[in-house]
Amino acid sequence: MSSEPDNATKTICPYCGVGCGIRVLEGDEPGEMRFMPWGDAPVNEGSVCIKGGAATQVVDHEDRLTEPLIKENGEFREATWEEALGRVVDEMRSIREEHGPDGMGFFGSSKTFNEENYLIQKLARRYGTNQVDNCTRMCHASTVWALRTSLGMGAMTNSMADLEDSADVLWIQGANPGEQHPIANSQYFRQAVLEGATVIQVDPHANKTTRSFEIDETDRHMHLQLKPGTDIPLLNVVLKTILDRHEEEPDAGWIDEEFVEERTKGFDHLKETLADFDVEAAAEECGVPLEDIELAAEKYAMANDAAIFTGMGMSQHTCGVDNVQNEINLALVTGNLGRPGTGVNPLRGQNNVQGTCDVGAMPNVLPGYQLVDDDEARESVEEVWGFEVPEEPGLTNVEISHAIGDTVHGLYVMGENPIMSEPDGNETERRFREELDFMVVQDIFMTETAELADVVLPATTWAERDGTVTNTDRRVQRMRGVHKVHENTRHDLDILCEVGTRLFDGDEFDFDGPEEVFEELREVCPIMHGMTYDALGEAGIHWPCYEEGDEGDSFLYEDSFETDDGLGRIEGVVHQEPKETPDEEYPLVLTTARLEEHYNTGTMSRRSPTLSKQHPENFVDVHPNDAERYGIEDGDHVTLKSRRGEITVRADVTEDIKEGVVWTTPHFAAASANRLTNDVLDERAKIPEYKAASAEIEVG
Ligand code: SF4
Repeated sequence: MSSEPDNATKTICPYCGVGCGIRVLEGDEPGEMRFMPWGDAPVNEGSVCIKGGAATQVVDHEDRLTEPLIKENGEFREATWEEALGRVVDEMRSIREEHGPDGMGFFGSSKTFNEENYLIQKLARRYGTNQVDNCTRMCHASTVWALRTSLGMGAMTNSMADLEDSADVLWIQGANPGEQHPIANSQYFRQAVLEGATVIQVDPHANKTTRSFEIDETDRHMHLQLKPGTDIPLLNVVLKTILDRHEEEPDAGWIDEEFVEERTKGFDHLKETLADFDVEAAAEECGVPLEDIELAAEKYAMANDAAIFTGMGMSQHTCGVDNVQNEINLALVTGNLGRPGTGVNPLRGQNNVQGTCDVGAMPNVLPGYQLVDDDEARESVEEVWGFEVPEEPGLTNVEISHAIGDTVHGLYVMGENPIMSEPDGNETERRFREELDFMVVQDIFMTETAELADVVLPATTWAERDGTVTNTDRRVQRMRGVHKVHENTRHDLDILCEVGTRLFDGDEFDFDGPEEVFEELREVCPIMHGMTYDALGEAGIHWPCYEEGDEGDSFLYEDSFETDDGLGRIEGVVHQEPKETPDEEYPLVLTTARLEEHYNTGTMSRRSPTLSKQHPENFVDVHPNDAERYGIEDGDHVTLKSRRGEITVRADVTEDIKEGVVWTTPHFAAASANRLTNDVLDERAKIPEYKAASAEIEVG
């Protein structure tokens, strides 16, 4: 593009996990900046969605925090950095003296960079606790658990780019790339479809993904519109169909016998689990015609290469781990792993949701998913860090919140907004407001969580600093900053270094910028060991990259899985109902999801004029039959209630949702879905059940 100015800075969109390259062009005044396309960007080749194009709008927004703040008598006042950091360090010391190191919890964030999340987990561990977690807990903790346990690595098995030429079937379950990953959908998925691939979408809601694949050959696009929380029975119908048809036609290729024999274990367990499985009853439970599920099973099993894409519709359940395990079962029995165009691929939400986990900002793992209770792994990290790491895993994100006032008395929050992101928001807010002794928040805006803090530290935005982020397909990419807009703000990394240096003697937090932090990170993180800033260049590198010079792997498990015995683990799973089901008092199923134009708790997107204009307020999708029963007209404002709270939202009467189900979003502070959601967790992954609760509607 010859008309593009060449003095714009190349960086990465701050929103979703696709990781599109964009450019930022600075004006003469601080804060004057505008979005420019990056024509030959490696992931998106210049295309962006509405969020990417609007990304610079919030950088110099009038709501930016510009000075450190300390709360006194319930009111914030401006403070110097010296005073604010002094207060943070004093409070953290006194919490440790009184309650021990587990008296503090540390929240990293996928909105911040790898280097910053690496440092916050190091800070927590130097403080003496493994109680550090991040917002990934809320979106894909169950996916990561299932993938790590059964295949070896908690990430996309393949990459977006290897779809185009190879995938015959795209199985998209509980994900909505048309809305949440628009460039992946338009650039990669759509391209695969244009080249003949079939799309099978499994989702309770008809959405932009559904509409983006409306093509004439209807049997190349199926939408299995199941009831929320019935993913296991639906996939069990698929698996049972494949097992039974294989019995009838052993040579037809329903099951890849050689792959199952040589590369997996647990196939017998799956067969036993499904031996007496009633496919008719299960299809009825799902609310999907049996013949549609059987046809989908045939299309997937008979494809040369079939790729599964999975999202939060699968992961955000109390059976989230088992949901994803059943997708893994499907891929393993049909041999759809270990080559381009196949795999089980979580579509990650934020631009660094993969990296935040990779660098160890989780309570059970160190950088590179090395377990904290593995002596050898812990000792190898301790050798670099020069201090001992506690060997007991810490509490997870929501567990830390639950423990406030009991064992947890202080919080260090970097870029997170748990008041809006955690389930049962009214109770969460009560705990934060009434039972926390101390909270420091570093952020760019006065978030709903920052309002409850004792100290607020003004950070810089994505556009003002350097570092790396890791996109949904494990591609580590460099972000490059332009000049700071507000003089007295500080980069997250510099704040963490300053706090660490003041808290502890020694030079563990003495870093001269993000590249020095990255150098230490790669020393302790085997999957990123071969990466340097220079090698990352503009294209980035997919992990694993073990040695300098490695080009990284665009797909995993070509020869074996990364499990102890090299085998992929099949395990049959059975249906588990959501923890709350409809009853007389709350007869509707409430499910939640995000919009293309907003981004999680809306901290940035609600402040973007372009984005907020599209959706200025929350709404609820109601089926026409339910609307008639309740006397609701399209556009009416209704009260949506659960056992935990109520919100007032506009009703959209639409057949996009099934009768008996209502659908709303978590983006809006005045009416967030999370005032209603159920605070129950998957036992293993500790992810909340955002996708199914019971609810009632009142008109007005
Ligand atoms: Fe940004 Fe995602 Fe849109 Fe790309 S698809 S421009 S990364 S929000």
